[in-house]
Amino acid sequence: VFLSFEGIDGSGKSTQARRLAEALRATGRDVVLTREPGGSAGAEEIRSLVLEGDPDRWSAETEILLFTAARRDHLERTILPALARGAVVICDRFADSTRVYQGISRGDLQDVVNQLHTLMIGREPDITVLIDMDPEDGLARALSRKGHEERFETFGLVLQQAMRRGFLDLAKAAPDRFRVIDGAGSADAVFDRLIAALPELPEA
Ligand code: C5P
Repeated sequence: VFLSFEGIDGSGKSTQARRLAEALRATGRDVVLTREPGGSAGAEEIRSLVLEGDPDRWSAETEILLFTAARRDHLERTILPALARGAVVICDRFADSTRVYQGISRGDLQDVVNQLHTLMIGREPDITVLIDMDPEDGLARALSRKGHEERFETFGLVLQQAMRRGFLDLAKAAPDRFRVIDGAGSADAVFDRLIAALPELPEA
């Protein structure tokens, strides 16, 4: 099973992805918890190229190519081998993040993102969990964590609002794949909602 977690910064998706991985491992399942950008040696190098340093270093189009290259490596080296041996793969961000972050935040590039996806990736997660969160609440959380202030400065609250909308629109367009979880409240409360939304994983 291939699951992805999506959401804006501060949504708590990484915490929830980790908790689900722990719960499944506790039942004896083989679980690979991974993340994007990154998740393989080459893709982690690309992550540094994209997320560190001058945010204007790459054009929007080049950034999409870099994210797609990173995803391809991640898929080849980490995700597909894990799925082939029967593991549950839990991926913190996948192609939907590129559809939203690169496809919307830097212009109207969703078509480019989707065409490259078809050409070079060609695979969607079986289930995508969207942790939906108001950006102001997300910002309050993110500010209490080191390193995340910067991205909020880059994107700003108005853009975060657009990102949230973008994720919700993707969920509406693919209701069979998406599970939208309300990210408000404690991590325990969100995790209870998450488990309730994943009846096909009763062992969790
Ligand atoms: O999920 P995580 O917090 O590790 O993401 C790191 C940063 O990369 C986030 O702040 C997110 O805004 C950014 N990002 C991006 N485009 C992507 C994926 C992540 O700009 N496709």
